[in-house]
Amino acid sequence: EVKEKEKGGFLFFSQEIEKKNKKFREIETGLRRALVNNELRLYIQPIFRESNNGEFVITKGELLLRWIRNNRIVYPPDEFIKVAEKNGMIVDVGNWILKEAYRIRQKLIEKGIYIDLCINISAKQLENKDFLNNIKYLFDEKNILENWIFEITENVLIRDFNISTHIFKEVKKLGIKIALDDFGTGYSSINYLSQLPIDYIKIDRSFISKAGQDGFNGVILAITSMAKSLGVKTVAEGVENKEQLKLLRNLGCDEFQGYFFSKPIDVEEFIRNLNLLNKIKI
Ligand code: C2E
Ligand code: MG
Ligand code: MG
Ligand code: MG
Repeated sequence: EVKEKEKGGFLFFSQEIEKKNKKFREIETGLRRALVNNELRLYIQPIFRESNNGEFVITKGELLLRWIRNNRIVYPPDEFIKVAEKNGMIVDVGNWILKEAYRIRQKLIEKGIYIDLCINISAKQLENKDFLNNIKYLFDEKNILENWIFEITENVLIRDFNISTHIFKEVKKLGIKIALDDFGTGYSSINYLSQLPIDYIKIDRSFISKAGQDGFNGVILAITSMAKSLGVKTVAEGVENKEQLKLLRNLGCDEFQGYFFSKPIDVEEFIRNLNLLNKIKI
């Protein structure tokens, strides 16, 4: 009887692996075509700060990658980005993102919209030896190095702290700001943080969604206090309702992003709805 169970378990296990491999290959071939067939888009999600008169105004927009075919999401970004990181396509995808971000910047400027733009940069992209040169080539020539923020997850730090520090410093030299993304999910210590030239900490949604629950207000307060003492601004990610927003503001978060204000949307839609999105009062 035991043997039967083991057999069943193994069969189940290998089927799961087979399924995963199949999906991996599907994403791999699909993504290659997606780049050529213009199936990738950058959506934008606004980030807000409270002004003196109590209005929440847009200060930045985070650009978030979407893979869309026939008006439908093909795969969510965290799934296909993982594949692109594994097979190295992230470098091409990443360069596409940088170019597209530049195009979006131009579009916003044409409409008189001056906000910071946040670009997510994967660890694999950062480690690529051409990364800094690519940025210089794409951005520097056009003289638009200001007002960009690179969002880098905390996990890159533990891979090689010295390399990360070096690249962060080079990026900063170009005038680009750095946000530590998904803060709280990794292992970065205060010691690391104090040595890095970071401008923002984005507190991970897993903490934000627990604001108000036992013990979690204290955790958030500890993060915002630490950030203040390091001279770093905090952004609360995944703010979904007014109660959270009020609480997070009182816990010292500087900026806010989440479905309460807006989901990530198409740039054209963002431009059209800017007046509705901006200056929200609670
Ligand atoms: P992230 O950079 O931490 O992005 C925040 C994610 O939270 C986004 O998911 C966003 O849509 C979602 N979000 C924002 N507000 C709320 C909220 O109020 N409630 C909930 N439930 N979710 C909210 P998305 O767009 O699916 O992206 C997932 C992850 O994929 C990103 O996490 C980032 O790590 C990665 N990613 C997305 N775009 C890019 C990109 O252009 N380059 C790279 N390297 N990674 C990207
Ligand atoms: Mg991000
Ligand atoms: Mg995040
Ligand atoms: Mg994330």
